[in-house]
Amino acid sequence: MTRYADVIIDISHEKVDRPFQYRIPEHMLEKLEVGMCVTVPFGKGNTLRRGYVTDITEKCAFDPQKIKEIHSLATDGVGVEDFQIRLARWIRSSYGGTMIQALKTVLPARHTVKKVEYKKVLLAVGREEGISLLGECRRKKQAARVRLLQELLSEGELPYELVTGKLMVSPAVIRGLEGLGAVHVEVLQSFRNPVKQQERQEISKELSEEQQAAVEKVMADYDGGDPGTYLLQGITGSGKTEVYIRLAQEMVSRGRQVIVLIPEIALTYQTLMRFYRRFGDRVSVLNSTLSAGEKYDQCERARCGEIDVIIGPRSALFVPFSRVGLILMDEEHEASYKSENTPKYHARETAVYLASLHGASVVLGSATPSLEAAYRAREGLYRQLFLTRRLTGGSLPKVYTVDLREELKQGNRSIFSRKLQELLADRLEKGQQSMLFINRRGFAGFVSCRACGHVMKCPHCDVSLSEHKGGRLVCHYCGYVTAKVNVCPECGSKYISGFRAGTQQIEERLQAMFPAMRILRMDADTTRAKDSHEQILAAFSAGEADVLVGTQMIVKGHDFPNVTLVGVLAADLSLSVGDYRAGERTFQLLTQAAGRAGRGSEPGEVVIQTYQPEHYAIIHAACQDYEGFYQEEILYRELMGYPPVAHMLAVQIYAASEEEGDRLSRQLARQAKGYVDQAQPLARQMLIVGPAPAGIGRVNDIYRFVFYVKDRDYHRLIAVKDGLEAWMGEWQSGQRRPQISLQFDFDPMNTL
Ligand code: ADP
Ligand code: ZN
Ligand code: ZN
Repeated sequence: MTRYADVIIDISHEKVDRPFQYRIPEHMLEKLEVGMCVTVPFGKGNTLRRGYVTDITEKCAFDPQKIKEIHSLATDGVGVEDFQIRLARWIRSSYGGTMIQALKTVLPARHTVKKVEYKKVLLAVGREEGISLLGECRRKKQAARVRLLQELLSEGELPYELVTGKLMVSPAVIRGLEGLGAVHVEVLQSFRNPVKQQERQEISKELSEEQQAAVEKVMADYDGGDPGTYLLQGITGSGKTEVYIRLAQEMVSRGRQVIVLIPEIALTYQTLMRFYRRFGDRVSVLNSTLSAGEKYDQCERARCGEIDVIIGPRSALFVPFSRVGLILMDEEHEASYKSENTPKYHARETAVYLASLHGASVVLGSATPSLEAAYRAREGLYRQLFLTRRLTGGSLPKVYTVDLREELKQGNRSIFSRKLQELLADRLEKGQQSMLFINRRGFAGFVSCRACGHVMKCPHCDVSLSEHKGGRLVCHYCGYVTAKVNVCPECGSKYISGFRAGTQQIEERLQAMFPAMRILRMDADTTRAKDSHEQILAAFSAGEADVLVGTQMIVKGHDFPNVTLVGVLAADLSLSVGDYRAGERTFQLLTQAAGRAGRGSEPGEVVIQTYQPEHYAIIHAACQDYEGFYQEEILYRELMGYPPVAHMLAVQIYAASEEEGDRLSRQLARQAKGYVDQAQPLARQMLIVGPAPAGIGRVNDIYRFVFYVKDRDYHRLIAVKDGLEAWMGEWQSGQRRPQISLQFDFDPMNTL
């Protein structure tokens, strides 16, 4: 049968949408695959051009007489483009979606650039004059000018994107100071005028023994031709960042390039400065404050070798480097490393694959490793490195776990336990700061008993049931439905209901209790405006409030030396989200939250309020015992067949009509059941769970359904995905206006 290939001629982004169709010559039929590089005759003169195959079909979209034929298979090159195409191919086959979606993920959006520019902000006046101007700005309370002058006085010059980015100084403020003649913006043309490496080496710290051992291990393996993936486990302040910097220096001195992944929320100005001081103009940062054009500029600078080190979120993996020696991934457990859009790739797995293409090493760092990373380290797939000592001094905080059931018994119906009230009053008196956080993701909707702590769970999946309209409790994995209860099946109390208390109520009640308290609140409402998130943190850091109330956003990244009390108002909220990662996430959040207290010289205290003080995630978080937590959590995953012990593919169906979505999701699930290999013993078999309406069943009038396929073998799940994709393609071609789409999520980060 004749087959046709869609070929993208030039992989610049704007043309990625427009593939051209070619006939596949007979002798190529067996060999040709999506993602391969071919040469094709193009245009009037039929000049031979390189192109990439994005799809293979049996349908010809044009006049079959006029269609041209593929000339030949291009032999694999080694350029940056080939790395990117191979990466896109792998992403497509591992996570689903189309080749075009994969290419769009991997390729930087092309922008017609005038000329790639690189800008710096410099101090234009002498030191004395600078200091006197700084004093003046302080008196006038011009906070942004103060920040900029202060930094320029200590650094001399700063990259423009750092000033407008993490330092939060707007271009208008820079222009204002420029107008006064105090600062100067220098524009350097890239390519033509390669920037000279600055000689501003910070006096290197002498590494601790543990740090030294970690660096030596990674470099010795690398130099010995055996690069690997490493899990660097160490609490905050144990010197992980210093290890990253040293490793990056080692790689750069060997002529290799380094990708540093840091979740944006955890990337502070201080951390960035540490990289700038070591790598000067040879380091670049990708962040969300950059425009698409600026991002493209950074990629161009990377492509022509002007940059050795790139720092950014997961998309920094796709910077066109041709000599990658090392990929560093800080806070590897962060959910933001997983893409929410198709292809739903995970940066960890993608980094490991990318490293294999380049013969590079990967270092994953965390204080609370993901179960995935810890499991693979124990299976011997990752090599383990530990940093056990805190270099910053300061002892671990004292943790009190408060049983909210007891509080209720004692007649305290407030959302603040007596212990927390007492400590809050104490801090207010001493002029020290506190942080209160409510552990809240989405609208959890779970139902629990305030008298005994009992949580309504699915009998099949061991995750919390969610309250739906119409008095039903639903499991979002398997679709189990049961009626809402009015009395607790465990203790008979009538205090059983969904938990509802937002940050705003907390703020109000706190204010009512302590009228003199200065309170800042940080949640999705107060941080909607761009940068407001950083502004609130900056204000709190500057001592403008006694208490910061917020969602889990407040526990990440920033250091507040004056915070000596952290209160977790309802640790159960994240514990009871109907998701198999709930325990892991709770442990991470509580450990991080506890780590917020007592960073300075004063010791810290932490109050964890919960209805389930006996839950292992809470017990182990309270004593900062990762190993203990891991041992219990992995047993649960093993027992239930959840990742990382097994793999889980979420098949998500989006439909404009509820009936059709329901019907199709059943059909697809049946189709998937057909792949179950009856010859396998039950324990090795693939399992299909669902379908069920998704946690958030309807968004913008689109109905969502989901079912899960579990298997120990990732490749078998890929085969299921391929099968369903093909089945769906056929189904859609038979529809006039298909109003249904299908998405895949491998080892989903959350299942809401
Ligand atoms: P982490 O990334 O694990 O939180 P950092 O690398 O940021 O740890 O180190 C925490 C603090 O300790 C920083 O202020 C850093 O400058 C300091 N530090 C790191 N390594 C050393 C060292 N070898 N000697 C002295 N201080 C160090
Ligand atoms: Zn009860
Ligand atoms: Zn269930």
